[in-house]
Amino acid sequence: MLIRTEGIVLRSTPYGEADLIVSFITRDEGLVQGFAKSPRKVRSRFGAALEPLTCVRLGLMGKESSSLLRVTQADIIESFHRLRDDLPTLVSLGPLVDLVRTLLHEREPHPRKYELLVAGFRAMEQNIPSRPVILMCLIIKFLWMCGYGPRVSACGRCGAAFSGDFAYFFPEYGSVLCQSCRITGAGRALRIGQETVRFFGEARSRTFTELLGYLPAEEVLREARKLIDGHGAHMCGGRCRPGLEIPAVAASPSEPWN
Ligand SMILES: [Zn+2]
Repeated sequence: MLIRTEGIVLRSTPYGEADLIVSFITRDEGLVQGFAKSPRKVRSRFGAALEPLTCVRLGLMGKESSSLLRVTQADIIESFHRLRDDLPTLVSLGPLVDLVRTLLHEREPHPRKYELLVAGFRAMEQNIPSRPVILMCLIIKFLWMCGYGPRVSACGRCGAAFSGDFAYFFPEYGSVLCQSCRITGAGRALRIGQETVRFFGEARSRTFTELLGYLPAEEVLREARKLIDGHGAHMCGGRCRPGLEIPAVAASPSEPWN
């Protein structure tokens, strides 16, 4: 079976003396593991096409059920080399790559998520000073698209809507909890102000492009980044699941938030 699609290289791992195992997010097949024969040899037909973050037109060969496909073609569509060549940017993209590899499934089409990532990388490449903000917006939109967005506007246990000046977000549960629902052993909480709560509301309802035009104050960005870092780390640790399995405690939804 020959598959033709396009994808972004997430990871390239050397195998043997000259081969590579390459992890892709593709438009039509979701996550794909590919085996590339001899791309590390001088004058390989793959050239630089299998470098991390490169967007490529792909040819993949293998059985329908196979989890490792042979890479037969990889032609560069966009190299995104300015992201890869800047070490701080490359490092900052690590958590997003981890989320993509954790939240998506192999051999399942994800065209909208794929398009979001391409648009995000393009925006980051073109706007160097705003890269951290763009990356944060990209991660937020990706999480929502996958159904794992952080719950910020209401308590994840009793559903009480946010009120007051501050909310307390628990990465362990992927949600804020009101005062009544906070429990011992719920893990570390992140305190966020009402402007940050509002920002996450905007982030959910706006498109990625619209969100880039909505730049909140530095304090809000700082809180939002912390929340996303904590939330993303727990996602990748597999400790946070949709449905918010929060242990039962005596709750009083009418209690104030702070
Ligand atoms: Zn509650």
